[in-house]
Amino acid sequence: MRNTDTIVILTGAGISAESGLQTFRAEDGLWCGHKVEEVATPEGFARNPQKVQQFYNMRRAQLQDVSPNAAHQAIAGLAGRWRGEIVLITQNVDDLHQRAMEGVTPKGNYACYPMHGSLKRVRCTASEEVSEWDSDLSAEHTCLCCNLRGTLRPDIVWFGEMPYFLEEIGAALDRATLFVSIGTSGSVYPAAGFVQQLRLEKRAHLVELNLEPSAGSQYFHERHYGKATEIVPVFFGGM
Ligand code: NAD
Repeated sequence: MRNTDTIVILTGAGISAESGLQTFRAEDGLWCGHKVEEVATPEGFARNPQKVQQFYNMRRAQLQDVSPNAAHQAIAGLAGRWRGEIVLITQNVDDLHQRAMEGVTPKGNYACYPMHGSLKRVRCTASEEVSEWDSDLSAEHTCLCCNLRGTLRPDIVWFGEMPYFLEEIGAALDRATLFVSIGTSGSVYPAAGFVQQLRLEKRAHLVELNLEPSAGSQYFHERHYGKATEIVPVFFGGM
């Protein structure tokens, strides 16, 4: 690797697990007691908005009790010394990468694309306007854009919806020299397909850092399994 190369990093729920945020598919994970189609689809929201708001209110409130861990900090540290480009694509809707970057001045070009939205934002379903949001959300809230009640929803990309930043992500994958996938089960597309695409194109070195082999583990050139707080700092430490 030259210090001017483009590193693309993809993260999933596993990188935040040791901060205290549950992953989705673990036995005691977020889906335990919650059906995906009820809390993570537009149809589920239309059927029972209160239930969906409660699910995301609970997750938004959890953010106050957690902090970035050594894996988030290792990526932020790399951004502080890497002269090339770092593109961080996260499927996570927490704000731990953003918080890890506070006080860090990127040495080269750095961009973070939260492709599945953010718990800290809400979207008005009437105007599509997005606003910052820190507290609980309910059908009683009035949006600031059209002054309507009950139009606000979490700014989360649900199943069946288009992820954010796909154009920017596609362009970054085209430039990638190194692609590192961290803490994702590789079961949700399009993110799960990034490694397959890069493997076909044969340009980037592909690395998986995860607790266990992901669904697409066979596509990676290099694999390291263990806790994110242990293996991520070691992997990026030498760069
Ligand atoms: P996941 O729960 O499917 O997988 C987490 C991965 O992290 C697993 O492979 C696990 O082995 C690994 N892991 C667990 N603890 C770890 C640790 N300490 N260190 C390293 N790895 C660890 O989560 P995912 O892959 O992120 O799921 C894909 C994405 O789908 C989610 O990030 C989410 O954005 C999206 N999604 C969103 C919703 C929603 O609420 N709208 C619903 C379902 C999925």
